[in-house]
Formats: sequence, structure tokens, C-alpha cells
Amino acid sequence: MTEKSDRYKQQMQKKKLVVDAAIEQADRDQGLLLVLTGNGKGKSSSAFGMVSRALGHGMKVAVAQFIKGSRDTGEEAFFKQQAGISWYVLGEGFTWETQNLERDIETAAKGWQVVRQLLADSDISLIVLDELTYPLKYGWLDCEVVLADLAQRPAMQHVIITGRAAPLPLLEAADTVTELADKKHAFRAGVKAQKGIDL
Ligand code: ATP
Ligand code: MG
Repeated sequence: MTEKSDRYKQQMQKKKLVVDAAIEQADRDQGLLLVLTGNGKGKSSSAFGMVSRALGHGMKVAVAQFIKGSRDTGEEAFFKQQAGISWYVLGEGFTWETQNLERDIETAAKGWQVVRQLLADSDISLIVLDELTYPLKYGWLDCEVVLADLAQRPAMQHVIITGRAAPLPLLEAADTVTELADKKHAFRAGVKAQKGIDL
């Protein structure tokens, strides 16, 4: 064995001890609250990646979308054909499309009643609340009420919340928070939304 590969082996042995110890420490099962936020691309698509994983394991999944643009997405078309998933469109469109505060509040409140039922159903293992941060940010939904309802959910139910500008109390309540950074986006170079990538 060369000196280089010997050193590499020793390094990896040390690393394995550290990793094994860390893995051994994490010994609990728990329903997780995940938040995917930030200005970079990849929040909703990451959530849908986890939806695929859960469905692949035969778990029951629900997706609730709080902001629905005018265009149909590939994920909606695809997942609606799959068994084990229910799909709810609870928003009417972007705020700059609706331009009506009272209506946005009413729509969000009705939508949250639907989510409450999902949160009460322990058969559902994963719930995605896509773009929920906007109703929170604009005050259509009370963050405290949302957090209280989330806290009451079944112990093994996972919830993923996506959207920019997640409020601080939500970040504090979450178990896993990922902030996607916007380093570059083709949109700013004049490329419109591309099928299969953006929708
Ligand atoms: P995706 O659904 O692709 O994972 P996202 O959920 O992170 O994106 P949203 O804020 O929900 O992002 O925006 C949805 C749409 O806006 C997508 O078409 C996405 O490509 C686009 N988008 C995301 N980030 C940016 C950005 N920084 N600049 C311009 N467009 C963006
Ligand atoms: Mg999104």
C-alpha cells in the first residue's frame, strides 16, 4: 500500500467512527415538520421528490397547494394518476392576480379547514403544504393557529411547508429547515419557464 492510500484509509477509519457515533445517537422515530424556504429555485420540486419517496414506500400522501398559478404543472398531472395521493388546490392564484384581500383571506381560511382534516387523519403519512408561507406572510392565516394545529397532528405524520420568506415562529417550530439560495436563475437572463424544469 502506498503512503497516500494508507493515510486515506486512516482518515476514513477516523471518519467512520465519528459518523457511526452520530448515527447511533439519532435513535428516535418521529413525524417531522420540514420547511423549504429562500429565494432560490427548488423548494416545491424538493417536496415533490419526498412525495415520490413516500409513495414508493406505499405511504399515503396529501398535497395542498395554497397558491395556484394559471398554468398546469407536470407534477399535478403525474401525481394525480398515482395511487395513494390526494391533491388539493386551495389557492386561487398569485396575490398580484387576485388583488382582493377579503377574498384571499376567505379562500385561505376555507383552505385551512381542509388541511385541518388532513392533519387529523393518521392514515396520511406525509402532507405537503405547498406555498403556505404566502398566506402566513400576508396575514390571511394566523401563524399561531397554524402552528397549534400542526402541533396537534398524529405523532408519526410528516409535514413539508414550502415558500419564500417563512416566518420566524415557523422556522423555530420546524425540525428541518432548508434555505435555498438564489445564485443564478435563467429567468433573469430572459428565458421563460420551461416545461419539465419550472412547471
Ligand atoms: P420549483 O417549483 O421549481 O422547485 P420553487 O418552489 O423553489 O421552484 P417558487 O417560488 O415556488 O420556487 O417559484 C415557482 C416558479 O418560479 C418556478 O417556475 C421556478 O423555476 C421559478 N423561480 C424559482 N426561483 C426563482 C428565481 N430566483 N427567479 C426567477 N424565477 C424563479
Ligand atoms: Mg414553489
